[in-house]
Amino acid sequence: MQALLDNIRIVLVHTTHPGNIGAVARAMKNMGLSDLYLVSPKEYPSERAEWRAANAADTLAAAKVVDSLDEALQGCGLVVGTSARERRIPWPLFNPRECGERAVAEAVSHPVALIFGREDRGLTNEELHKCHYHVHIPSNPGYSSLNLAAAVQVLTYEVRMAALLVSDEMPGEMEWDIERSTADEVEHFFGHLEQVMVDIGFHDPDNPRQTMTRLRRLFNRARMDQMETGILRGVLTGIQHKLRKSDKDNKI
Ligand code: SAH
Repeated sequence: MQALLDNIRIVLVHTTHPGNIGAVARAMKNMGLSDLYLVSPKEYPSERAEWRAANAADTLAAAKVVDSLDEALQGCGLVVGTSARERRIPWPLFNPRECGERAVAEAVSHPVALIFGREDRGLTNEELHKCHYHVHIPSNPGYSSLNLAAAVQVLTYEVRMAALLVSDEMPGEMEWDIERSTADEVEHFFGHLEQVMVDIGFHDPDNPRQTMTRLRRLFNRARMDQMETGILRGVLTGIQHKLRKSDKDNKI
């Protein structure tokens, strides 16, 4: 998983605000990425960048500053450019999910670059034409441009989700301290519950209506564990004891 993330590079072109560079470093580290290239940033190094990077100072310090986009793309087998709006000549286009999946799939064999543009003008056509694909975050068409670091966050999140899926490290079902009740244990519980409902006069087996169906649906939603069915069976048994005892008392 880490090897895949290490092979996915974030390239920032001509960033104006150093704070955004720091925020990008932070967004990347949160998602497990570390390979950051800065193409001719306007103001860098910068205290404001360090401040916004917070605990991602290491990612920021390791950023490589280069003079041209070509230098930043060296060795990359897949290059994806981001775009906040439709361009005149359409290019093969990913949505963010497809971008994450494809970046992770190709990171197995070569470095992958995701390029982000200037705060005011984005990427130039010339820069976009160096890309195999473009990716657009489907934002509000009436206000489509995200903050640079927010755009990096969205795309690196998709990269991480895709990497978790392929490496089988996706957090699955919640870890549970006790084994789930098996189907037969649950069946015994329902049998017991129905019996007690009959014993106390709540349920008429000759006119059952949907009561048991509804109770089955209720308890099945809870995915009961063995401790829980045990407790419920204990309560049912307790009720039955009491009933028998009061029956006996009444007869005396
Ligand atoms: N006004 C510029 C937008 C710049 S936003 C324009 O119209 O192109 C700065 C950078 O954030 C963009 O270059 C791109 O890398 C990223 N970004 C912002 N919004 C995005 C979106 N909806 N989809 C993809 N990338 C986006």
